[in-house]
Amino acid sequence: MRGVVMYAPGDVRVVEREDPQIIDPTDAVIRITATCICGSDLWPYRGVEPVDHTLMGHEYVGIVEEIGADVATLKVGDFVVGSFCISDNTCPICRDGYQSRCVHGSFVAGAIGTQAEKARIPYADGTLVATPGQPDEDLIPSLLAASDVLGTGWFAAIAAAAGPGKTVAVVGDGAVGLMGVLAAKQLGAERIIAMSRHADRQTLAREFGATDIVETRGDDGIAAIKDLTDGLGAHSVIEAVGTRESMMQAIGSTRPGGHIGFVGVAHDVALPLDNVFFAEVHLLGGPAPVRRFLPELIDLIWNRKIDPGKVFDQVLPLDQAAEGYRSMDERKAIKTLLTL
Ligand SMILES: [Zn+2]
Repeated sequence: MRGVVMYAPGDVRVVEREDPQIIDPTDAVIRITATCICGSDLWPYRGVEPVDHTLMGHEYVGIVEEIGADVATLKVGDFVVGSFCISDNTCPICRDGYQSRCVHGSFVAGAIGTQAEKARIPYADGTLVATPGQPDEDLIPSLLAASDVLGTGWFAAIAAAAGPGKTVAVVGDGAVGLMGVLAAKQLGAERIIAMSRHADRQTLAREFGATDIVETRGDDGIAAIKDLTDGLGAHSVIEAVGTRESMMQAIGSTRPGGHIGFVGVAHDVALPLDNVFFAEVHLLGGPAPVRRFLPELIDLIWNRKIDPGKVFDQVLPLDQAAEGYRSMDERKAIKTLLTL
């Protein structure tokens, strides 16, 4: 089969890989229908994370081609959406809703690599969720978004305690930040402030439910959020970047007693604990337990209540993956969908 391998920073190739096969009885092999490039794939692309002939891709939807003897909830031919984290969905951590930290967990990125024609998914029952039937073509981008960016934005909004009567601020206008806006809207937030300096992303943020846009950053950005909230700060802040600056902006924008959901992947970020201490805010972050939310997200998409697929503004065949990486790296594309 063909699959994307990153040989070195900036060196993305589509090469022949060995076809995956069932190894454990809890495995499924799926034929991937659509996959995409994640903002986190740009970390190795830019040399920030180590990379050496790495199998790329962790977002995916597809059709079950083969199942192991112990797979109970899926059958061959099912259309499935999978999480970017493998989970058994039965251990104590999974039962508490933190499937991204399953005791049998692992990451799809690197180990499996779903920017490919097929994938072997371990713990298939605990990782994949079947849709009610074969989806209409136009639902596929939205279902694919549920695999990571929507699930991650959703987790961030839940972690930030977004809901009715709340003012939610979103730091970061990448795909996850935009999905955080959508999630906050769906969860009933009263006011949603998107922090963005890019006109195209501001437009999309408004389509997803943003009521206000703040273009400034840092102390000016914090002051702008306070101006909009009677000097108090937002109740709920979604942090979707992962840098010291974005995290300090999130902490500074949150009112005492408020909640921050932080889902930007951090790399060697140190925070001044004095500021964090006196901010007196709730903090919850980490890789999103997408599996917890998949049944609900699939239902919302299937019934056309939400349209997260709009976040894809570039579609390319898998063979042109390198061009997709380049577009996202140069911020010419928000998110690139790869077709097979
Ligand atoms: Zn588990």
